[in-house]
Amino acid sequence: MKLSTPTISHSATFARVSSTFTYENGQQNEVYFETTPEFAKYLVHEVSDAFIIAAMLPALVYGEDIYVDNVSDYLSYNFDPLLYLFGKVFGYPPIKLHAKQVLHLEFNPQAVGTGFSGGVDSLATYLEHTSESCPKEFRVNHLALFNVGAYGNDPVKTSKNFHDDLERAQKFAKEVNIPLIPLNSNLSSIYTHKDIFHFSLRLTLCISAGILCLQKLFKRYYISSHGTIDTIKLSKYDQQYYEGLFVQRLCTTNTDIMIAEPHYDRVEKTKRILQSELTTSHLYVCNADLVNEKHEGKHHEKEGHVNCSECFKCVRTLLTIDLLGKLDQFRHLFNLEKYYKLKDALILQMYQEKESNHFQAEIYELFKETGAAFTPNQLRLIKKWERQQLPKRLYHKLRSICGKIMRKIFC
Ligand SMILES: [Zn+2]
Repeated sequence: MKLSTPTISHSATFARVSSTFTYENGQQNEVYFETTPEFAKYLVHEVSDAFIIAAMLPALVYGEDIYVDNVSDYLSYNFDPLLYLFGKVFGYPPIKLHAKQVLHLEFNPQAVGTGFSGGVDSLATYLEHTSESCPKEFRVNHLALFNVGAYGNDPVKTSKNFHDDLERAQKFAKEVNIPLIPLNSNLSSIYTHKDIFHFSLRLTLCISAGILCLQKLFKRYYISSHGTIDTIKLSKYDQQYYEGLFVQRLCTTNTDIMIAEPHYDRVEKTKRILQSELTTSHLYVCNADLVNEKHEGKHHEKEGHVNCSECFKCVRTLLTIDLLGKLDQFRHLFNLEKYYKLKDALILQMYQEKESNHFQAEIYELFKETGAAFTPNQLRLIKKWERQQLPKRLYHKLRSICGKIMRKIFC
């Protein structure tokens, strides 16, 4: 796969850095990142770092080495260990990077940034990194909103959802008086192979590609953690489970990329952000658009509310806020009537999944910690489910006993 040298182009409304990817079969894709003209001077065209990171997984699954003109020294040095890791995760042999020149560039960037979606993770990162207790060197002074795949793979819907979110993020940035840099892209167009199609399995790489096309702006950038650091595993379905293993290898002389708050679970983050009035005005956790695209036929409707109040992100946030006793403060952002109708089923789901899903385990711990009690209907649902589990449990127990006996006889 040959990546052409990045070039910058301008229009009255955007500035774009782009590179043409040429595959071994001759197919070509123009890949771009674009921002508003005021941030044009920060787009990096001197090295292909952002495009190399974007190309890693497509090149891996198609078994093609990557050829570029220029790469920064850090990324060149780290390419092989990175591809060894992704090769293990996705089950493909590693590929190589071939660069005509390895460059050491110092852009002297000044900004400390983080993405702002309005979700629990991004609010937690923003509030932690603008608080008095945060050392000045680490304080966030720029916000960003990236369209690098989080909005799905349909270019029309993606663009609409990104611009809706951008309006929300800009409103927040104005209120807290911090500049916000929008970054649009067509990155999803290169992830058509089924093994790398969904955003969750390439999320950290796509965000990092977006960050490194702005190496002239960001000296440090925080990617909010999605779970705690100890939940690490090599999951080919969710890159955030193992991002702590590789994100340091995506850093360059200019830009440090860090995973923020890997020591707080979601409940702890929710507790912390509920202390700020900004949360009551701006909390936006809804994942309905992506869920609707991923699971065709299953549709979550927002019905005029900011958050749909029925997708998995909405309901786990609502249940947590409910247990923390602050639900009424969010009446203007969620459809609470919809939530109350779902609540018994959500409590049952929390109980059923408390040993298999760390988010549900955290909420169950909060349930016990706050002294909440099951209502008679919730208890009835739980007992019914437990009765249904009895035959399964007996079957597994018998299977285990038989296995032990067989091993004793034949081993
Ligand atoms: Zn939702």
